[in-house]
Amino acid sequence: MTESCAHIKGVTTVKHATQRACEECVKVGARWVHLRTCQTCGVTLCCDNSPNRHATKHAKATSHPVIASAEPGERWLYCYPDDAFAEY
Ligand SMILES: [Zn+2]
Ligand SMILES: [Zn+2]
Ligand SMILES: [Zn+2]
Repeated sequence: MTESCAHIKGVTTVKHATQRACEECVKVGARWVHLRTCQTCGVTLCCDNSPNRHATKHAKATSHPVIASAEPGERWLYCYPDDAFAEY
């Protein structure tokens, strides 16, 4: 259940969203479903259920491994390279 990798263990302070919006979707006027916050640089982007999947694109483009859910009431981290998930 809480099987986490070194990337997730390395997150000592979870970065939270500074705005309730996907930065990339706002630029192009697109819509999003859920928001995720990159734990390396703190950018908030949209999830894989959103048409543009900006969080996944960001992780692939930058090799920033870990995102946190930016949804209210959700407290979890996800690591792309390890496909690892952890609640906090
Ligand atoms: Zn990892
Ligand atoms: Zn987006
Ligand atoms: Zn990032």
